[in-house]
Amino acid sequence: MRREAEYRKVPVAAPALIGNEKIYVNDCLDTNWISSNGLYIQRFEDAFAQFLGVKHAIACCNGTAALHLALLALEIGPGDEVIIPTLTYVATANAVRYTGAEVVLADSEPNTWNIDPEKLEALITPKTKAIIPVPLYGHPCDMDPIIELANKYDLFVIEDSAEALGAKYKEQFSGSIADISTFSFYGNKTITTGEGGMVVTNDDHLAANVRLFQGQGMDPQKRYWFPVVGYNYRMTNIAAAIGLAQLENIDKFLEKRRVIACLYNEMLTGVHGITLPREESYAIHSYWMYSILIEDAYGKTRDETMQLLGKRGVETRPIFYPMHLMPVYGRGDCQGLEVAADIASKGINLPTFYELSSEEIEYIASVLRFTYS
Ligand SMILES: *Cc1c(COP(=O)(O)O)cnc(C)c1O
Repeated sequence: MRREAEYRKVPVAAPALIGNEKIYVNDCLDTNWISSNGLYIQRFEDAFAQFLGVKHAIACCNGTAALHLALLALEIGPGDEVIIPTLTYVATANAVRYTGAEVVLADSEPNTWNIDPEKLEALITPKTKAIIPVPLYGHPCDMDPIIELANKYDLFVIEDSAEALGAKYKEQFSGSIADISTFSFYGNKTITTGEGGMVVTNDDHLAANVRLFQGQGMDPQKRYWFPVVGYNYRMTNIAAAIGLAQLENIDKFLEKRRVIACLYNEMLTGVHGITLPREESYAIHSYWMYSILIEDAYGKTRDETMQLLGKRGVETRPIFYPMHLMPVYGRGDCQGLEVAADIASKGINLPTFYELSSEEIEYIASVLRFTYS
């Protein structure tokens, strides 16, 4: 019998600062460029735009601010409606609400757990201005039907790609397809800057708008002249220095996440009552969080399974509670949002991070298979 203290502790996520992070940060300190001016911001923005194959990348202080800036750049505000998936991180909904626009919640598609394109048209009204698909946990959204619908009704598409850096939809990177897209570099994301975000677009006008609102609304032609109410959503040079070093290792990070997913798949295939994540034929999953569904047939509920893993030292997270269950966004029922509600009640995020070892994955799988003793 093992004592509690002997159980390994496996976090659900952890950053991997394995490259030039320290060198670049020290460079900021040595040269005195620690605020939101400095060469690393430009270098990080340029490298990010080049990686995605987009024209503009604008760094900012976090992913939520990035979403707010994207919405402001599109002039979305009071009286407008924006459709988002109910199954998302709260930042997607919060950013819409900051602008004064109404949040309209859409159901999920059962295989990918992403916004269901087939259920979108019924939600469109004369007030609808934009759709925000969210590639959840790294699985890209089915963008073609969403963009087709947006074109038909003259709507903008904003991709909240916070969880999908490196994912691909039909050869194109997630975040390079919509009118404007956003990323997050929070500590648990695929690359991190501590706190940070990025707005990307191919549209010159939108990019200029993002920069305007990000820097207090200062007229780029006239210093200390402010034609609009802006925000201070800038990134620091230090954060950008970390981001640049992280981006230099993006291929390594993505490769490792695929290896982790393959190992989990191998070890959990055939476990009665566990549904494994899917990767659709149009998709390259970036496996930000390897996630499973605990079905009735498993014999334990989702929460019991998380408790079991927790007791064995394995940290997990429930899949996001859908926004319609939040008092600030809900309508008080699940009507029309049943698929998302079902996924949310069954889903678990398992540990997924660069330094997770194959032994640890084996260990986690053995707990889930009840073969650990
Ligand atoms: C992480 C995340 C964000 C942004 O988060 P920040 O913590 O503000 O950087 C936005 N949307 C989704 C779906 C996310 O997962």
